[in-house]
Amino acid sequence: MTEDVKPVNFIRQIIDEDLSSGKHTEIVTRFPPEPNGYLHIGHAKSIWLNFGIKDDYQGKCTLRFDDTNPVREDAEFVTAIEEDVRWLGYKWTAIAHASDYFEQFHDYAVELIRKGLAYVDSLGADEIRNLRGTLSEPGADSPYRNRSIEENLALFSKMRAGEFANGEHVLRAKIDMSSPNINLRDPILYRIRHHPHQRTGDKWCIYPMYDFAHGQGDAIEGVTHSLCTLEFEDHRALYEWFIENLSVPSKPRQIEFSRLNLNYTVMSKRMLTQLVEQGYVHGWDDPRMPTISGLRRRGYTPASIRNFIASVGITKKSNIIEMGVLENCIREDLDPVAPRAMAVLRPLKVVIENYPEGESEILDVPNHPANPDMGTRKITLSREIYIDRDDYMDEPPKKFFRLGPGREVRLRYGFIVKCTDVIRDVTGQAIELRVQFDPETRGGNQPVGRKIKGIIHWVSANHCANAEIRLYDRLFSQANPLADKTKEFTDSINPESLEVLENCKVEMSLSTSSSDTRYQFERTGYFYPDKESSAGKLIFNRIVTLRDTWAKLAG
Ligand code: ATP
Ligand code: MG
Repeated sequence: MTEDVKPVNFIRQIIDEDLSSGKHTEIVTRFPPEPNGYLHIGHAKSIWLNFGIKDDYQGKCTLRFDDTNPVREDAEFVTAIEEDVRWLGYKWTAIAHASDYFEQFHDYAVELIRKGLAYVDSLGADEIRNLRGTLSEPGADSPYRNRSIEENLALFSKMRAGEFANGEHVLRAKIDMSSPNINLRDPILYRIRHHPHQRTGDKWCIYPMYDFAHGQGDAIEGVTHSLCTLEFEDHRALYEWFIENLSVPSKPRQIEFSRLNLNYTVMSKRMLTQLVEQGYVHGWDDPRMPTISGLRRRGYTPASIRNFIASVGITKKSNIIEMGVLENCIREDLDPVAPRAMAVLRPLKVVIENYPEGESEILDVPNHPANPDMGTRKITLSREIYIDRDDYMDEPPKKFFRLGPGREVRLRYGFIVKCTDVIRDVTGQAIELRVQFDPETRGGNQPVGRKIKGIIHWVSANHCANAEIRLYDRLFSQANPLADKTKEFTDSINPESLEVLENCKVEMSLSTSSSDTRYQFERTGYFYPDKESSAGKLIFNRIVTLRDTWAKLAG
């Protein structure tokens, strides 16, 4: 999927029709997060949809913070959300807040009261719930339902003036307590919350419910297509009732699409908050989190995320996408452009005994095997090197084409070495290999009379840098962490989701490279410098392995 091709989906078809019929001349969308957490990859779907439409139709898209619940919201989240949207590559036409419209929402509430379409209820939350009925049974009227308009106006004005405690009264719409759609059974419009708001401070002690704010916010902004996820389908009748009964400046059309779900993770802000607050991860931008900031820190690119969403597409069908699909998107994005480098994650010392002491040779090697435009770099080969522990076995099986006692292997870009001796610690574990090199095999030359299949990566012991490498894996070991209702979702956290290797050896060039370069460490995976990495202490995050190791497990 490339980004030059414009997406096709049922929502864009509706927009095309609305433009060609002349219903609209300009398309206005919005992305409406509640600032009660960081954005996750699910939000990226909504961002891609709303901002993508704005870009392709030269329309408008507002970033609107739905900040109607002062108790859960925080300015930290506002800043993070703005940064994430920008990083994904989108520009909003304007920033707005539901709280900008609090006065207008209040006036709409008064308008409903004056029309006899809203009333102050003085029942407690439990009583209201009990009278609400069920899916199969109608609800019952509150004894306060028939208060006079004057009484309602007076009570609502006192609610606003702060004369009542939390929960003493609420304002409800007067619709139909026996409606088959529970959302229409006199929903609550306003409640009392003596709690300062991050933007309006102490100005208000009554706050509109999300359902009362959302559609009217759209109408005030002239949103033409209000795109939301399927769980709001049943709320649409209520939003339309508000729009019909209020003197709003425009009539947005709501269209629902399915949420993005990914396996091996969770995507609700409530659960992500729990992971952060209970210390299962190291903050919202922990590279194991499905948050935009976590993916960014891990090394995902904005394009890989946009391509992922584009490949999933926009439909009304609910389904769960394989984590492997997202991982493949970053592989595809990085493979053609990521400079190659050699890094030894679990070092095993190798001494090339017939290589002259104190000498070394400089090799000019390509930064990318298939892209000569990416140039070359110089690496040094000398008598003492490190190879990866995994590239040596005491008793290698037949198909193991790497090192073992008496075996030969090619050092990438170097020459062929043969293992002649193994130095062991008291437990018998190999701690150093002694090898002999064959000078005839420099420059890729094949030795006479024998074929050496294996090529391994290495770094020169005196020409490398130390690094910490963080190997990230999926945060959960169950495809659906919510499947087992008898357990907490945190019970299926993958205990191996983070492995920190502190004593890695990487080629010297990495110690001076830019902090924004994503590398392919040869034969190992894609890596990105962590935000804590510095020239004094290199730290790399594994973005993804070279191949999908989980696919094998599942198959
Ligand atoms: P959560 O359940 O994670 O708290 P939310 O829907 O409550 O998500 P909001 O901040 O209200 O989060 O969401 C902002 C916008 O992003 C909404 O329009 C919502 O529909 C959309 N959105 C949230 N999660 C997803 C998802 N998984 N896939 C697609 N869109 C999503
Ligand atoms: Mg929400």
